[in-house]
Amino acid sequence: MARRPEAELEDSGEVKAVKILVQKFGGTSVATPAQRARAATRVLEAKSRGYSPVVVVSAMGRMGEPYATDTLIDLVRKAHSEVDRRELDLVLSCGEVISTVVMAQTLRAMGCPAVGLTGAQAGIITDDNFGNTSILEVRPERVLEHLEDDRVVVVAGFQGVTRSGDVTTLGRGGSDTTAAALAVALGAEVIEIYTDVEGIMTADPRIVPDARSLRVMTYREVVEMAHLGAKVVHPRAVEIAMEGGIPIRIKNTFSDEPGTLVTRTGTSPDGAVIRSDKVATGVTHLTNVAQIRIDSSRDVNESGIAKSVFRALADAGISVDLINVFPELICFTVSEDVVETAVAVLERLGLDGLTIRMVRGCAKVSVVGAGMRGVPGVMARVVEALAEAKVPIYQTSDSHASISCLVKKEDMQKAMRGLHAKFGLEV
Ligand code: ADP
Ligand code: ASP
Ligand code: MG
Repeated sequence: MARRPEAELEDSGEVKAVKILVQKFGGTSVATPAQRARAATRVLEAKSRGYSPVVVVSAMGRMGEPYATDTLIDLVRKAHSEVDRRELDLVLSCGEVISTVVMAQTLRAMGCPAVGLTGAQAGIITDDNFGNTSILEVRPERVLEHLEDDRVVVVAGFQGVTRSGDVTTLGRGGSDTTAAALAVALGAEVIEIYTDVEGIMTADPRIVPDARSLRVMTYREVVEMAHLGAKVVHPRAVEIAMEGGIPIRIKNTFSDEPGTLVTRTGTSPDGAVIRSDKVATGVTHLTNVAQIRIDSSRDVNESGIAKSVFRALADAGISVDLINVFPELICFTVSEDVVETAVAVLERLGLDGLTIRMVRGCAKVSVVGAGMRGVPGVMARVVEALAEAKVPIYQTSDSHASISCLVKKEDMQKAMRGLHAKFGLEV
């Protein structure tokens, strides 16, 4: 996905430069006619600022609403528990296609020429790892032709097509990725991600009510937060924007607050200083996690147990996280959906002297901060916060910019609030 320096359109033999802006609207920004009208106003405002907008939309609404992604998954799963992954992608893509058509209609009704395109029509070419595909290339010609004719192009997010013509999806939250990939391919000036909160916040405001909005962040901090559960933006989208050097602005569709600007270290747009040295920037959470503990009466290294365990899980396509190997203990987490399969795979190995236990209903809470590396006392504060909140820790892990703790799901909220307060994130 090479970045074009600036999109250039052939216009009656002449080449004219256009300022492209990619605006992405999440499911809750396009769920009702009033919300779509608000979103469309954002598009018209961008036009009046001299931009040629490309609009990426997600499926309308959340679980329970008729065309939301979760509703479509439910619909198919109810018919048969084993779902063909290729066909699941086909049906999931419909949520965004419906949203695209409705949004293009809304824009036209407001007097703005617009055209709706599926991911395939917009040139999003992916691999065939159905349900979690990667974009291989973007062929932006058709989008550019419409922009040349002064139409706003509305593109169905979250989807693409394989080289052999199968419709694919990019993984949950993947409309952000569509927006970033299109922005890079079109040489857009900026990506605006519109959602239902005031940008990236110090924690999910649904869980920590005094979370506050972060004005400016570096790509790396956001990637770390997004990987550890801050689902306000998809980590892959941030990586793509970072590689293409395109800033991202994450804003609330329904307010005029500035939201969060995501850019490189050192730059200081709007006069705001970017600091990437904070010990703690935010607290994140991931649910749907289960822990597997394998106690062994033999050394897991010498006996080859560690090797067999991780090879078997890999061959079963099960991904593991929070991994700790000790001579007589192996601990890791898997997604709760696959924990039973994982245990069955391990039991089938028939290894002697092992006790395999699972702890269901866990959550991973993390403190994220690019400046925590080498700073004494960060772990002490994490443990103090959780002890004060009376939350037992089941396992921990850390990276250069985060410390994560596994806790029981019912303790997650207490843990998040305790960590948020301990690191003074509310001020
Ligand atoms: P959209 O449909 O607009 O893509 P998402 O549901 O994917 O919206 O993401 C927005 C949600 O992310 C918010 O409603 C909020 O609950 C959640 N969220 C989780 N962590 C954070 C965070 N650190 N900052 C802001 N929102 C967060
Ligand atoms: N509709 C998809 C999802 O719910 C993609 C997205 O919203 O970004 O995951
Ligand atoms: Mg999202």
